[in-house]
Amino acid sequence: MAKLESEKDGCHAGSEKLKEAARSAGKSELLEQYKKDYPLGPHDKPQSMCPAFGSLRVGLRMRRVGTILSGSACCVYGLTFVSHFYGARRSVGYVPFSSETLVTGKLYEDIRDSVYKMADPSNYDAIVVTNLCVPTASGVPLRLLPKEINGVRIIGIDVPGFGVPTHAEAKDVLSGAILQYARTEIENGPVAAPDSGKSDRPTVTLLGEMFPADPVGIGELLAPLGLAVGPVVPCREWRELYAALDCGAVAAIHPFYTSAVREFQAAGREVFGSAPVGVDGTSEWLSSVGECFNVKADIVGKAKNQFIPSIKEALKKSKIKGRITISGYEGSELLVARLLIESGAKVEYVGTACQKTKWSDPDRIWLESKGIKVKFRASLEDDCAAVEYFKPDLAIGTTPVVQKAKELGFPSLYFTNLISARPLMGKAGAGSLATVVNAAISNKKRMKSMVSFFEGVGKEDTSGIWEKSPNIHPTFRAHNLKKIEKRKKAAKAAEMI
Ligand code: SF4
Repeated sequence: MAKLESEKDGCHAGSEKLKEAARSAGKSELLEQYKKDYPLGPHDKPQSMCPAFGSLRVGLRMRRVGTILSGSACCVYGLTFVSHFYGARRSVGYVPFSSETLVTGKLYEDIRDSVYKMADPSNYDAIVVTNLCVPTASGVPLRLLPKEINGVRIIGIDVPGFGVPTHAEAKDVLSGAILQYARTEIENGPVAAPDSGKSDRPTVTLLGEMFPADPVGIGELLAPLGLAVGPVVPCREWRELYAALDCGAVAAIHPFYTSAVREFQAAGREVFGSAPVGVDGTSEWLSSVGECFNVKADIVGKAKNQFIPSIKEALKKSKIKGRITISGYEGSELLVARLLIESGAKVEYVGTACQKTKWSDPDRIWLESKGIKVKFRASLEDDCAAVEYFKPDLAIGTTPVVQKAKELGFPSLYFTNLISARPLMGKAGAGSLATVVNAAISNKKRMKSMVSFFEGVGKEDTSGIWEKSPNIHPTFRAHNLKKIEKRKKAAKAAEMI
């Protein structure tokens, strides 16, 4: 039976060992649920940052919500570093552990003590405690924490890298957990009204983080149908969760929120996929809204006549010429591809680290009808191979894909920083990508000259200017690999004793 005994057993222990340990520590049910919610394949594991960053970020962005991490020091260092890099501007609580506190169960007591110390209702509405890989694999039972201390809600979640494949899906783990908590509160009695007041029209809750102007644009599209835009989930404060659950229907703008969708469905809310991007996307989306809310066809038709011509006009004014590959892990890759295609671009490849769901079907079907193959759970190797194969005028992707494109001398744009930081929906979204995309494509010549400029400076472990030829010692690497293999075999043999 695999058992974890120290914090060195993190990523390096291998996901099979961690899974086995988690099962024998009583987390089988959790792993089964994650397997259903976030199935792997066609690839085993997409390569993005530590998944727990997704849930950490969702918690940190909520007002009056405290965050405690329980995990190996190196994981917590990395996660807090990235969260501050992205402007968290508040502290992250950390409960460290040692081999002894892990094995004796004292770690759980330490976590409980910290939660009690932190649960001050004048500071917090809720505290989120997250088990990272090693505490999850060791079975630290966060479900035993009190549900509430001094009126502060306590939410314990497990976000192991061996159960939650991407940081996008980790956002869903926390969103689902807090929606479930809020739903139970609603079922048990009256809850606080949202700060912004209650809309007199039925609302559509938006699922998925988006550029701040997008919900405003969506609100304009909904108004002629007699509807209003509701909160965006992940929410920014606790009360918004009640308003989100109190909607008429949910638009799964990002299609990977399986556990959040489960909560909305348990609250009796209908969920529909895709988003109002471009001409076809907006038209289809308005039809879906109309169906959900039983809005008369002529009213939906009038709304389309009101918005579609101006979206068409905006797209016409902001043409994009060029061949583009797209890859990312945010869940909006298919929407961006649709918009680029309607702007005139030739999209050669769409890869997303997220899984295929019912909610991504409308966009997948539309893209496939244009002859574009969408790769779900795309690996870094898939994304890089697409760049090498298609030799695009522009590669939109994650950091390593952009790096690859730069090495090859193709223009590239970071998905997260440059594409997600723009509106995509309705009229505002229609022309928003053209400026940045066209500017990048026009850099093609410069990128090529950069390759020749840096020619001969070496690469990877030989990069830089060397006075003599770099001393590579390939035998050292082979020797080290052998040593690692030997250590692994010895550990395996020790397990069997
Ligand atoms: S918590 Fe993240 S960084 Fe730490 S072992 Fe798990 S996947 Fe790796």
